Amino acid sequence: MRKATFRGGIPICDGKKLSKDRQTMEVRPKGDAVYPLLQHIGIPARSIVEVGDRVLVGQRIAEASGVVSAHVISSVSGRVKAIEPRKIVSGAMSEAIVIENDGEFQTIDGLGEPRDTEKLSKEEIRAFVKDAGIVGLGGVGFPTHVKLTPKNDDAIEYVIVNGAESEPYLTADYRGMLEETERLVGGLKLMLRLFEQAQGIILIEKNKPEAIKMMSAALKGESRIHIKAVNPKYPRGAERQAIYAATKRKMNSSMIPTDVGCMVYNVHTVIAVYRAVAESMPLLHRVLTVTGGAVANPRNYTVNIGTSYAEVLEAAGGLCKEPEKLVSGGPMMGTELLDLTVPVTKTSSALLALSKEETAEPFESPCIRCGRCMEVCPSRLVPRKLIKCAECSDDQRFIRLGGMECSECGACSYNCPAGRSLTGTIKQMRRSILDERRRR
Ligand code: SF4
Ligand code: SF4
Repeated sequence: MRKATFRGGIPICDGKKLSKDRQTMEVRPKGDAVYPLLQHIGIPARSIVEVGDRVLVGQRIAEASGVVSAHVISSVSGRVKAIEPRKIVSGAMSEAIVIENDGEFQTIDGLGEPRDTEKLSKEEIRAFVKDAGIVGLGGVGFPTHVKLTPKNDDAIEYVIVNGAESEPYLTADYRGMLEETERLVGGLKLMLRLFEQAQGIILIEKNKPEAIKMMSAALKGESRIHIKAVNPKYPRGAERQAIYAATKRKMNSSMIPTDVGCMVYNVHTVIAVYRAVAESMPLLHRVLTVTGGAVANPRNYTVNIGTSYAEVLEAAGGLCKEPEKLVSGGPMMGTELLDLTVPVTKTSSALLALSKEETAEPFESPCIRCGRCMEVCPSRLVPRKLIKCAECSDDQRFIRLGGMECSECGACSYNCPAGRSLTGTIKQMRRSILDERRRR
């Protein structure tokens, strides 16, 4: 029998103990809330408010424009102060709606009211998900109502909930499985109503026995949903690796999961679907893991979308020592944060303040051809050869060597004894080839 694991990867689970056993806490923003119009993959949403308008919690302030787009919902009450370009995590400027938060959190009528889901049609379920502005909360941000509407519902055989949170330090999905178990199961059951031929699989790493226990208890009597326990390994949580672990089906970069009869959803996306459909609650919050050796009170925080990272850090007790590096997201795939005034968006997952001891000394030396980058690559690539192509801008050879199959997981860079910036270089090369293809 073939093992349900993937070749390569690295067995790391560092940093999780800082936050994994602590209850999630809520952060209520005090300052202005900033909502970029593009917090998803696709076309930016279109503002439907004007400067001076009063808005309430749960009110739609920007509407999806085009097929692949998502609504933006206000998570505070107050007045629209500006609609202008604001800095986002990447350092780029993005058109955003700025709301002067009045601190009252006055809501629209009906927000949070329970809804009888038994009689809802497929169309109604999809419409509630769209109205809630939900996008993939695993970081990619693909609009969930679009993903839940494939060409053929009956071609979907597996709906996979990705509870394999393999990125170091991050524990939001783990806490979600422990603290929102019923909602997670409820969300998956709603999804399975859309895909009558499908089985539900919840992927959980074996080093999370509490989550396996809680989920197993909640799934008693559910014949269509199963738990798949997998060995912890980075990047287990990546989409292709998750599909292989759950079903042994393989895909490459030119395929999408529905080509192999699968759909993969992040734990909090499934919880958000339940809240939208069964509790009339749009996507107003993100659960962020705020952690690292320089954070005073590391744990998970439920944060209103639009809150600044500075406020989130303050809610976590601020810094207990000088951080060497601030990161939005995990240490492997996150983005270095150079400005804490930028807002938390739908795709934010973590705020790391790493101390000197937690960050490697920056150094880079020539390649010693040890092959370690190749050993850990889950996409079976030879990263040292790919960066050679990148260095001499040889697109064709880069493509021939499979460079477009890179999932940008960071495992090669992490494992390189020479400190080579393999992932960053490969990522740049992939972006430039993709841009060139789009231009053509
Ligand atoms: S791991 Fe680093 S040093 Fe070793 S072969 Fe790859 S690029 Fe070269
Ligand atoms: S080449 Fe890409 S997929 Fe392979 S280890 Fe490096 S970043 Fe990950």
